[in-house]
Amino acid sequence: MIKKFKNKFFNEKSKGKEKLISIEDGDSPTEISKKIRQVKRNVSQHFNLKNDSVLITPYCGYKFHLNNLSLEDAKKMFDFNNLNHLINVDMIIRKNIYSPEVEKYLKKARPKYEERMAQAMESEAFIKLDQSSKKEFLEIDKSNFVRHYIEFSPQLFYLLEKPTKIEKFKEILNEFGIENLECFVNYYHKLNEVKIKKKKDKWSDRFSDLVDKEVFLCGEDIPIAELLDLINLADLNYILLPIKSKTIEKKNEALPILENRSDAYDLLSQKIPIEDCYLLNFNNKFNDKNNAVWLIETLQYYEAYEDIIFKTFDKAFECSMGLADKYMYIYNSCCRKSSHLNGEELYAEEVPVLPHHPGCSCWCEVKNSTDLVMKL
Ligand SMILES: [Zn+2]
Repeated sequence: MIKKFKNKFFNEKSKGKEKLISIEDGDSPTEISKKIRQVKRNVSQHFNLKNDSVLITPYCGYKFHLNNLSLEDAKKMFDFNNLNHLINVDMIIRKNIYSPEVEKYLKKARPKYEERMAQAMESEAFIKLDQSSKKEFLEIDKSNFVRHYIEFSPQLFYLLEKPTKIEKFKEILNEFGIENLECFVNYYHKLNEVKIKKKKDKWSDRFSDLVDKEVFLCGEDIPIAELLDLINLADLNYILLPIKSKTIEKKNEALPILENRSDAYDLLSQKIPIEDCYLLNFNNKFNDKNNAVWLIETLQYYEAYEDIIFKTFDKAFECSMGLADKYMYIYNSCCRKSSHLNGEELYAEEVPVLPHHPGCSCWCEVKNSTDLVMKL
């Protein structure tokens, strides 16, 4: 039997009049979860706007705000019936939405990261490396920094460096649209060589847009030399048989033969679905390496920003639902603040208010005397 819920979500703020959820004595964990989900679906109606800042955790012990967000947009962003993270990312970028709590968290982490990077670059191990290994070394050191940071959050990896040229990025976003940009980011590295698009590819509809914009090449616009990589020697000899009586020994012998023929693509299409082949258009300045890296990192920054907002909101929301006395809580700590509790079996009143910080991934295994009931 659940004796009482200690949390502000149900009691303190609502003063018993405005209970968002009522838990019956006999409710099973499944029924409780179902009720929680129902409340979550309409949670945005409880958000408050004050001084251009929306408090998105109005009933929680942990205060979490979003600035530059209207209540109307907040409703769209937190519409759990229809959650679209990519549209949220788009909104965050266009409207300069930020969370003061996330900014405060990053403000603390960034100087420590810069200090760490400076130390890494002065280290003997680093100095001895060649250019490409240096880059790799710093990437590994960055993930180590994130993992060992006192308030760990996986999103930190992408948030430690502030994005640059944001206005320019917004112009590109306007021109391309967020979905095309996401497709580009996903395929930039994969399309360094010819790829055959899979029918079920998540982004397959975006490919043609990017071909129209000359960012990707498709079909007969792809140079023959690139397409030859997809065919083995035996298949090439099969294709060339009507043209050439002698078989070729090496694949590169096929190139001058095919390049001089107007039906070269028709011949190749016997073995490759040419219309489904894609390649980066290396002549387009959009694909310039520096530009692409900047686009990728900028989009990843905002995706991580959206992610940290939702992870923090979810953690606060779930943990504000109250802890029942009848269960025991085995604590799993993500941050040094609560590392002394890691692995401890706690009573409801001993569990700290979560999250400790944006992106906090501390959690509890909720147990009755014999079974694991749920994870919180
Ligand atoms: Zn934590």
